[in-house]
Amino acid sequence: MSLRFRNTLGGELEPFQPLEAGKVGLYSCGPTVYGPAHVGNFRSFVFADLLRRYLLWSGYSVTWVMNVTDVDDKLIRRAAAEGVSIKELADRYAERFEADMRLLDIAPPDVMPRATEHIDDMVMLIERLLERGHAYRTDDGSVFFRIDSWPAYGRLARLDPEQQRVGERVEADEYGKDDVRDFALWKGPKPAEPSWSTAIGEGRPGWHIECSAMSMKYLGASFDIHTGGIDLVFPHHEDEMAQSEAATGQRFVSVWLHCAHLRMGGQKMAKRTGNFAVPDDVYAEGISPRVLRYALLSTHYRTGPDFTEAALATAASSVERLATVLLALDAYRQERADDASLAELLEGTREAFRGHMDDDLNVAPALGAVFDLVRELNRRLADRALSTADAALAASALRDLDSVLGVAEDPTAPQADRAVQRLLDLRVAARAERDWARSDGLRAELAELGVTVEDTADGQRWRRSTEPVHG
Ligand SMILES: [Zn+2]
Repeated sequence: MSLRFRNTLGGELEPFQPLEAGKVGLYSCGPTVYGPAHVGNFRSFVFADLLRRYLLWSGYSVTWVMNVTDVDDKLIRRAAAEGVSIKELADRYAERFEADMRLLDIAPPDVMPRATEHIDDMVMLIERLLERGHAYRTDDGSVFFRIDSWPAYGRLARLDPEQQRVGERVEADEYGKDDVRDFALWKGPKPAEPSWSTAIGEGRPGWHIECSAMSMKYLGASFDIHTGGIDLVFPHHEDEMAQSEAATGQRFVSVWLHCAHLRMGGQKMAKRTGNFAVPDDVYAEGISPRVLRYALLSTHYRTGPDFTEAALATAASSVERLATVLLALDAYRQERADDASLAELLEGTREAFRGHMDDDLNVAPALGAVFDLVRELNRRLADRALSTADAALAASALRDLDSVLGVAEDPTAPQADRAVQRLLDLRVAARAERDWARSDGLRAELAELGVTVEDTADGQRWRRSTEPVHG
């Protein structure tokens, strides 16, 4: 079986075929940087990261583009309330977003274009829509997309044409439009709002046009995969698709993938529900970024996981099991013949993992395959049935699978600082002298520093896995 995705456009499971063999153009709607992104947003970004990692693991080269929305109504209002420029506010929260991404081990996208740096690209796209009769101007200097001119409108969200935008709030500044369904490509200038002087007049871009302009600039008029949260299907992605295809006459995106919301107590998780709103709230409870990452990615992307303390506890014990078996494999030394069945075990796990992930990124059974392997390796370690070389081979196979998941080890974990190293050395010495009381006392001291020590047949091992991350 080869890689298949459930395409939101049409709703079918389809074999994945990139436009250019071996290469994938991937676009994800990024953050609006008017405040810190909440945990629910990171569900969608962790999903996109998992997708990119899996594509890379499968041998594709991937160009990942994620936009940063640095001008919109919320940002303008917040900046005005704080008495700072929109640039200052956007810079602050873009930096915060990138720091949050690093903690969650989301590798930086290849390009993170900012809306305000691509006004010309948006204006060019709007000019084309005006030329082709898919857009019109209103008296206040705004430009709207004419939905009547585009019969394919509603295909992505599978809307009944009669139902479109019924009940949707009409913005006060949008009363000039011809049809209630039409959406703003360009907003005419208003006092106390930032605006740009352009070929289509003074004003600022609408939100939808920025994603069309920036995705096509970096990935071409047609590209492979577009991701986002389920709430973006309509109207944002419907509008993106309509205006892009109306402007270019080409298919915009091959595969649309949408991630379900995280649910807290049966409710969609968003800033207003409070409690665990942003990743820092989770870390403040002593939960590590890797555990949060695991909790966010371990449920299929189209299923909304319940984000509960129980789910986080399960995530913590899973991450712990992975970290522990890797430590044990690294420390393991045994002079004996190689385990003849190990290669087959590792290859079988790899194939099971691949089979599940190829099936529309079915991550839960893929993780199941990994933990079956962990259980089997723990058994062979306990029986000392592996050679030193076997253990190294098994560790490298596990790390290879974790290169997709990014949950087993923390690459940013600090090395032992001097104080910790000294206590660890003292404890080795105490144990060599069979001074168990002193050894236990040193273990307690280390625990206070957030360091867990374990004694094994291969000696003392330590880790910082339970250390909370601050700031
Ligand atoms: Zn977007």
